[in-house]
Amino acid sequence: MSDKELLLDVIEFATTDRLRSTLRSICLKSDDAYALVCDELLAPANTQKTADEKRQSGSSNGPVSKRKLDEYICPRFAVCEQCEREFDVLTDNGPHACRWHEGELEIDLDHKTWDDWDEDVHGDMDDDASRSEYPEGFVWECCGKRGGWKNDECKSGPHKAEDYKKFKVSN
Ligand SMILES: [Zn+2]
Ligand SMILES: [Zn+2]
Repeated sequence: MSDKELLLDVIEFATTDRLRSTLRSICLKSDDAYALVCDELLAPANTQKTADEKRQSGSSNGPVSKRKLDEYICPRFAVCEQCEREFDVLTDNGPHACRWHEGELEIDLDHKTWDDWDEDVHGDMDDDASRSEYPEGFVWECCGKRGGWKNDECKSGPHKAEDYKKFKVSN
C-alpha cells in the first residue's frame, strides 16, 4: 500500500472531530492550504462571476489570491431549511433545485398500519421512528399526500440557506 493509499484509508475511517481539528491545524500552518480550503468551503460574494471565471480557466485547483479571500461571504455548503439536505450554493441552487412540503407530517389513525398497534408493545405511534419506518401511516397536512413517496413534494423552488451574515469576512 502506498503512503497515499494509506492516508486516504485513514481519512476514510477517522472521526469527524479528528478531521475537523486536522483541517483547522493545516489551515493555520500553510497559506496555500488555507487558500485551497477557502476555495472548497466558502462561496464568494459574486458567485455567478466566479463560476464563470472557473469555467474559463478550466481549473478550480489553483490557490486563490489574497484579494479574493476578502470577497468570501458565506459557507459554500449549506443545509437547506426547506428540504433539510446539504447543497452547494455555487452549483446546486437553480430555480427548481429544492422540493419540500410546507406543512407537517400528521398521523392518519384510520390507516391500516395502526389497526393492531399496541403502544406498550410497538412503541409510540407518532414519533420519528414510526414516521420513518411506517410513512404510509402518515399524511402531509399541506397537500394531503401520503408519507414515504420520493419526489412527491408539493413545493419547489431554490434551496434556502440560513442567514450567514455573521460569517462575513471583515477587512
Ligand atoms: Zn405537501
Ligand atoms: Zn432545499
